[in-house]
Amino acid sequence: MPLGHQSKPDDRADAGWKIDDDTFERFSQVFDAFNRSGWDDTVKSEKSDAFWASYAQPLHEWRKARGFRRRDYALRNAAWWGTDFFSERMEAEDRMEGFLDPLSALRDGSNEPEPFESSEAASIEIKQVALLMGADLAGIAAADERWLYTESVSIKEGGPKPNTMDPSLDKVIVIGQAMDASLNATAPSALAGAATGLGYSHDVITLLLISQYIRNLGYEAVPTLNDTALAIPYAIKAGLGEYGRHGLVITPEYGPNVRFGKIFTNLPLEIDVPIRFGVEEMCNICQACSTACPSQAITYDKPSAKLHNISNIPGITKWTTDAEACFGYWAKINSDCSVCIRVCPYTRDYDSFVDRLWARLAGGRFRRLALLWDQKSGRGDRVSPKDWWDLDPGETRVEITNKPEER
Ligand code: SF4
Ligand code: SF4
Repeated sequence: MPLGHQSKPDDRADAGWKIDDDTFERFSQVFDAFNRSGWDDTVKSEKSDAFWASYAQPLHEWRKARGFRRRDYALRNAAWWGTDFFSERMEAEDRMEGFLDPLSALRDGSNEPEPFESSEAASIEIKQVALLMGADLAGIAAADERWLYTESVSIKEGGPKPNTMDPSLDKVIVIGQAMDASLNATAPSALAGAATGLGYSHDVITLLLISQYIRNLGYEAVPTLNDTALAIPYAIKAGLGEYGRHGLVITPEYGPNVRFGKIFTNLPLEIDVPIRFGVEEMCNICQACSTACPSQAITYDKPSAKLHNISNIPGITKWTTDAEACFGYWAKINSDCSVCIRVCPYTRDYDSFVDRLWARLAGGRFRRLALLWDQKSGRGDRVSPKDWWDLDPGETRVEITNKPEER
């Protein structure tokens, strides 16, 4: 089972993000494009309001196109329900847990910490428990103030509120949850949004179970999803993957088709190191995500410190996506989009020998051949939502078929 990779440690400090200490500024969650859709007219529109409303009330008939019909929205919203339940239960206390505030549905733990033989032993144990509880990937990073949001958002006031994370929790357990590849293969569609919702819902439960275990052992554990801190740098630092041109973390096990969650803790843990397996080199010759992105939000250029708008973090040289353009497209189609995940050549089934062979080629001097192979194979072509719904009972939905025709 994957416990984070140790094979090729990255000697660069931030594994794909070059940080300029003079210009770097920590990020406020107020400026996240999703939150800006609540207060900033550059992002807020009738379409963005309809986008948010559609998650609470499945649309009967928004478009005639397959993938955007009532059953697609019904499935998407059902998949989100696990997350929605926890994000809505504390709204009266000005908390949107999992998005603006840490998850709090935990029992009190013990006051007597269980001793561990060593920090290495504690790390192995917690990763085994994480996988047992439902995580597909688990790694450990040191808490880093740079990635903590300077402030969260008050849903009552519509403005900033303090980020209350306890600074004495100096380790972060990062878990990865693989998303359903067959649903994502239908992107863009509301049907594909079910993969996102399921990823989040499974993440919430897994985070709570691992955190309760830690509390039962007498240590602190604060489970967080999209709230509190940026997930991407933590996933990289925890050795779960490498940064890609599309702004996502590409893992060796699932490519970018993964959601991340994080648990801040004072468990005495050994931290992991970032890994490299050729993603940066592949992104240098591949622009599949930039070409396929419907909103042209993904750069064709080299990594730079250029900011598109206030939703970007100053002082980091990296591939940076235009979050305003990206969210604008989500609002336009009335669902989240994961086209960049679908087309990325790392999105494949690594249980298959052929796909593992591809990964081996992609990680070495034959990566151009690997890219050409991917381009010719049709792997990243969109699957018709009708085909997804029409699969026979019992037929695997993990296999990505290549049927380009739109119905
Ligand atoms: S989610 Fe869609 S719109 Fe956003 S960057 Fe990816 S491909 Fe572009
Ligand atoms: S699609 Fe290509 S360029 Fe984009 S992240 Fe994946 S490998 Fe990199």
